[in-house]
Amino acid sequence: KNREKTILITGGAGFIGSHFVEYVFNHHPNWKIVVLDALTYAGHLRNIPEHVLKSKRFEFWYGNIADRALVFELVKNADIVVHMAAESHVARSLFDDLKFFETDVLGTQSVASAVVKCKDNLEVFVHISTSEVYGTAVEVPMSEMHPLNPTTPYASAKCAADRLVYSYIITYEIPGIILRPFNNYGPRQHLEKVIPRFIVRALKNKPLIIHGTGENTRDWTFVTDCCEAIDGVINAPKEKVIGQIFNIGTGKEVSIKEIAQFVKKFTDSSSPIQHISDRPGQVKRHISNNQKIQNIINWQPCISFEEGLKKTIEWYKKHPEWWEDMDWMLNLPYKTWNGHDF
Ligand code: NAD
Repeated sequence: KNREKTILITGGAGFIGSHFVEYVFNHHPNWKIVVLDALTYAGHLRNIPEHVLKSKRFEFWYGNIADRALVFELVKNADIVVHMAAESHVARSLFDDLKFFETDVLGTQSVASAVVKCKDNLEVFVHISTSEVYGTAVEVPMSEMHPLNPTTPYASAKCAADRLVYSYIITYEIPGIILRPFNNYGPRQHLEKVIPRFIVRALKNKPLIIHGTGENTRDWTFVTDCCEAIDGVINAPKEKVIGQIFNIGTGKEVSIKEIAQFVKKFTDSSSPIQHISDRPGQVKRHISNNQKIQNIINWQPCISFEEGLKKTIEWYKKHPEWWEDMDWMLNLPYKTWNGHDF
């Protein structure tokens, strides 16, 4: 476990990516961490702790996963590749859909084809997919065999990427693993996502705005639990994990309405809860069956929703400098061509 290795993390300046960088830095003191990130509106170097940025074990490449020559060089020198870079925000995908297919599908093809070329020297290629590939639950809890019915441009782009990686595992025998995290939350998540948005609005005593009834549910994993699962899969015996697909989720569901109420309570806020029309493509219910990852790598989430939410609120309270600009921008009177807002 302590042998020196190089891990390439695409999208390491984003929300989950930066937590995963921190996790690997703390848990594998001999590993070199290489991050490739295009620093889009969703990524920022301030997400990575300063002592990591300054460490000799850390290397940052400011570049695009579509840059095949660069991706090949980085994959060639890696033992482990974790591919997280993506356009990741559902709401944005409703009015900026092309970008999602370019980055999530063609970008993944760029990374996966470099993996094909380097497969003999690579230990493992972890593709971070998403539970959004399933669409609304037709059976609960949702196992890895649940039908794939993505309902938004984000979800369908991620679904294409997921199937692309699967086909490369079968066709080119790359050492791939597909992970499907359910919704993550925690510090440093962009305000386009519902939990940080509710928190910031509650801290300012502004209305918490719910799309539709708010009865739709998601399965919420605290981001460090998700990092532990990714790391667990990387370090598991290869014969148990290569070629496999794993859900990462808690097996519990919490509705958007309940989250709004929890946030109000934990921030002691007087914000009213308001409802507006539902977002198109809205997934009604998501709840994971996490038996497979439990059985194979013995992973279980350790942070309960209420505990994770309190930690997240504390972080946003302490770091207004991280989100004030973002909040200001998201509250400008934007117009989008098909009328879908953030
Ligand atoms: P994020 O949007 O916070 O981060 C994405 C990162 O990718 C950013 O740093 C961005 O700059 C970078 N990036 C975007 N386009 C790029 C490109 N063309 N080249 C290089 N870098 C690029 O997303 P996140 O929430 O951290 O999600 C990480 C991964 O996990 C994504 O693949 C996402 O689909 C998946 N996922 C997220 C969740 C969740 O709840 N956040 C749940 C399931 C799966």
